[in-house]
Amino acid sequence: MNITFENGNWHISDNPTIGVIIGDGIGIDVTPVAMKVIDAAVEKVYMNRKIEWKEILVGEKAAEKRIPNLSEEALNEIRSLRVVLKGPLTTPVGSGFRSLNVAIRQKLDLYACVRPVKWFPGVPAPVKNPEKLDVVIFRENTEDVYAGIEWEKGSEGAKNLIEYLKKNNIIVREDSGLGLKPISEFASKRLVKSAINYAVKNNRKSVTLVHKGNIMKFTEGAFKEWGYELNSEVEVNDRIADAMFQQLLLRPDEYDVIATTNLNGDYLSDACAAQVGGLGLAPGANINYETGIAVFEATHGTAPKYAGLDKVNPGSIILSGVMMLELLGWQEAADVIVQAMQRTIQEKQVTYDLARQMDNAIEVKSSEFGKKIIEKIKK
Ligand code: NAP
Repeated sequence: MNITFENGNWHISDNPTIGVIIGDGIGIDVTPVAMKVIDAAVEKVYMNRKIEWKEILVGEKAAEKRIPNLSEEALNEIRSLRVVLKGPLTTPVGSGFRSLNVAIRQKLDLYACVRPVKWFPGVPAPVKNPEKLDVVIFRENTEDVYAGIEWEKGSEGAKNLIEYLKKNNIIVREDSGLGLKPISEFASKRLVKSAINYAVKNNRKSVTLVHKGNIMKFTEGAFKEWGYELNSEVEVNDRIADAMFQQLLLRPDEYDVIATTNLNGDYLSDACAAQVGGLGLAPGANINYETGIAVFEATHGTAPKYAGLDKVNPGSIILSGVMMLELLGWQEAADVIVQAMQRTIQEKQVTYDLARQMDNAIEVKSSEFGKKIIEKIKK
């Protein structure tokens, strides 16, 4: 049964069909592990429920079958299934897209990149009190410098634009590359609104608008203004981006849900994940809350040197699966996975990336890490 979407809510049967993009490189090592962990949790908690996984061929798996690495058919499958778990994808050289991952977000208008960041007890972190950080970052996914509107130095486009600017008394050096940073009221408001809705639904206390409006008044500054124009049942405040990086290190417990523009969000998500020691564990989702399409993805890349070695940490895509279960309302299954994963980490049975930072850790393979989690789920 496909998942349906009405009035802003996903409706799910006991046997939903969920799409899965295995991914390139280490996708083969981590995605099947996550599927097994999710299946085990659903079986343990609900007995009568079961996910039917439907593989969608994207990336190298599609190319092997001589179909485009992101075909219209694959995009339509994502649209019709609505909910997809996705491994990492290689950015093909010379495909016309800067990145397949960005292309999926843009073609399906998945405007909110949602990244929850909190510490897992036992994970080595570079700060003294990693448990104080517990934020959910909403990053605008469709605009900003990521729109890819650029002109190479010396190109016809760059020359024309420099000429146009000169006529308007704006002097730009002749040997400049140029880029545009579009930030619209429409996209800013729908992103901040989704962050506010999330905060209300999840009993979060505030939404912080992060921007660089002191310098870029009509883009970053406008993002802040438009955010404040929305009605909100939670506190909305704002911080300038550079100050926010300090604040998150010095007073992390004062922040909750964060809503920000595309580039700020990119930097902030990784900085926050690093702060809790969890770059390899960071989950993420790309969601359109109006069309009801959601792609839950590992936030790391394809790490080609480890591909097929059964070595890397499947934590990121497992936790993205947890986000997926939460969105679908299968909270109990999500909780069971988090508890089992937490205990596995506390027992120091971890993949190489965490093992190399812990004393007396037992290094396990990707598949073994999954098996340890499943053993705990089944108990
Ligand atoms: P990457 O694949 O994320 O790998 C960088 C390093 O991060 C790895 O060498 C490894 O560090 C560590 N790492 C990544 N995933 C890990 C995991 N699951 N467990 C443990 N450690 C992990 O980044 P990249 O090398 O820059 O990019 C490779 C390809 O992935 C590119 O084609 C890029 O475009 C693509 N990419 C895709 C996505 C996506 O699908 N969303 C995101 C980013 C990049 P150590 O070497 O220190 O062990």
